[in-house]
Amino acid sequence: MLKEACAENIQMWLDGMNRFNATPEFGTTRILFTKPELENRSYVKDEMKKLGLVVTEDAIGNIYGTLKGTDMESKPVWTGSHIDTVPNAGKFDGMAGVVCGMEALRLIKESGVEHKRDLTVIVYTSEEPTRFSLGCLGSRAMAGAMTLEDTKHIHDKSGRSLYEKLEELSYDLSKFSEIKREKGDVYATVELHIEQNSQLEKKKLPIGIVKKICAPSNYLVEVTGCQSHAGGTDMDDRRDAYAASCEMALALEKIAKECGSEYNTATIGCVKVIPDAANVIPGKCIFTVDIRDCNMDTKQETIRAFKEAFGKIADKREVKLSITEENNDEPLTCNKKIVSLLEETSSELGLACTELISGPFHDSLFVGKFAPTAMIFVPSKGGISHSPEEWTDYEEVAKGADVLANTLLKLANMEEEL
Ligand SMILES: [Zn+2]
Repeated sequence: MLKEACAENIQMWLDGMNRFNATPEFGTTRILFTKPELENRSYVKDEMKKLGLVVTEDAIGNIYGTLKGTDMESKPVWTGSHIDTVPNAGKFDGMAGVVCGMEALRLIKESGVEHKRDLTVIVYTSEEPTRFSLGCLGSRAMAGAMTLEDTKHIHDKSGRSLYEKLEELSYDLSKFSEIKREKGDVYATVELHIEQNSQLEKKKLPIGIVKKICAPSNYLVEVTGCQSHAGGTDMDDRRDAYAASCEMALALEKIAKECGSEYNTATIGCVKVIPDAANVIPGKCIFTVDIRDCNMDTKQETIRAFKEAFGKIADKREVKLSITEENNDEPLTCNKKIVSLLEETSSELGLACTELISGPFHDSLFVGKFAPTAMIFVPSKGGISHSPEEWTDYEEVAKGADVLANTLLKLANMEEEL
C-alpha cells in the first residue's frame, strides 16, 4: 500500500483553485474560457509541473499531466475530471477528481514503486454545459462525438461559436482530429467525483463504486392549441395548450415511476407558455423533456411510451403536437474488472464501500466509449451539489484519493485484458 493521501494537500489545491472565481460572495462560478477559468488552467498546469508531471494540452483544451512509466509501448492509465463549474456552485464537483488524481500521482511518484504504464491526470474541458449549452466538450471530442465541424455550430449566448473561441485562444485547430481516441488507445480510466446524492451519507460509507452511469435523452415538445380570451371562451370550447401540457407532464411522471428500470428519471425542467398573459388562454406551450436511465432498453421503452401518451392527450384535447429529439445517449456499464479492483482496494485499505448507479453523467460516460472505465464516489454532505452548500470533508476526499492511488498503481502494472 502507498502512503496515505494528505488531506492538507487536497485542501491546498481545492482552495488554490477556488481563488479563481467570478462570484466569491456566493459560491464558485468558473465558466469555460472566462478569466477565472483560464487563470485556473494556468494554476493547475503549474501545480502539475511542480509534481514533476509532463504537461500537455490538446486542441480543445483538455490538459494532460503525465507521470511516465517504464514501458513506452504500454497503453496509459488515466484519471481526472473537470475544473469548470455551473453558476454559484461549490468547490468540489469536478475539482475533487482532478486534485485526487494529482495527489495519487504524487504518492506513486514519491513511493518510488516502478510502474510500467504512463499514468495521466486529465482536466477535461467543460464538463458543465453552462457556456455552450452542451456538456462534456473535451471528453465528447475524445469519443469522436464532436468534430471540428460541430464546434462551428455550437454557440454561447453572445453568438460566438466554440470554433471561434478556440481560435481566439490560439488552440491549434489543425490538430483537432488528434483529440479522438480509438478503442485500445487507453488501458483503463478511473474518475473520482463527489456523489451528488446522499446514499453514502445515509449508509455511513466513505466510498461508492459506480457500476453504471445514466445517460440523458432530451426532447423539445411544442403543443399548439388556440389562443383566446380567458373570459370569453367556454370551458368546453377551449384548446388550451398549457392544460394539455400539464396532462402530458403528469403522464410522463407516471410512465417514469412505473417503468421498472433499476434507476431512471424523467423531468420537465423548462416551460414556456405563450403568450404568458393572465387573461389569455395559452395558444402555445413549449417544454423540455429530460429522461435518464442506466439501461438503454428501459429508456427506449419510456421514450416510446411518453410519445404515445402525449399523442393520445393531444388527440383528445385537439391540440397539435411536435416532439423533437435533441439527443438520445447510451448509458455506460462500468468495466467489471475495474469495479472489482476498486472494491478489493477499498477493502485492503479498510474502507467500507458499496456499488452505486450515477444519475448525473460525467466525463466518464464519454471516456467509457473508448476505454474500460469506472468511477469512485465520495460522500456529498446532505446530497447537495451545484450549490454553495456543496461539501465533502477533506479527510473524506483523501480516503477517495487513497483508493484511487492504489488502484491506479495496480492498473499501471497490470497485463490482463480488461
Ligand atoms: Zn462534475
